[in-house]
Amino acid sequence: MGTRITGELTAGEVDQALHAVHFWAGDNRNHRYLRAQIDDPDRDTFTPECTLSTFVIPARWAFRSELSQELDEDRDKARDCRPCFRARR
Ligand SMILES: [Zn+2]
Repeated sequence: MGTRITGELTAGEVDQALHAVHFWAGDNRNHRYLRAQIDDPDRDTFTPECTLSTFVIPARWAFRSELSQELDEDRDKARDCRPCFRARR
């Protein structure tokens, strides 16, 4: 117990591998985006996790120019979008 097996990722690491956190100027919040979206150079609109995981929240399309650089754990977490960070599956 507590020993990390090489090559095995924790749930948090897997999550980080799949998602990137970006500040969106559209609503001044930090959202989680699939890296597959962000990394696609042909794409210029992005939908955060919160709109993918619930039908209650209307689609939030963010343009590339509206997103910050990727944020890390030192970000201002008071700005984290609650549904995005609650939706971890
Ligand atoms: Zn969100």
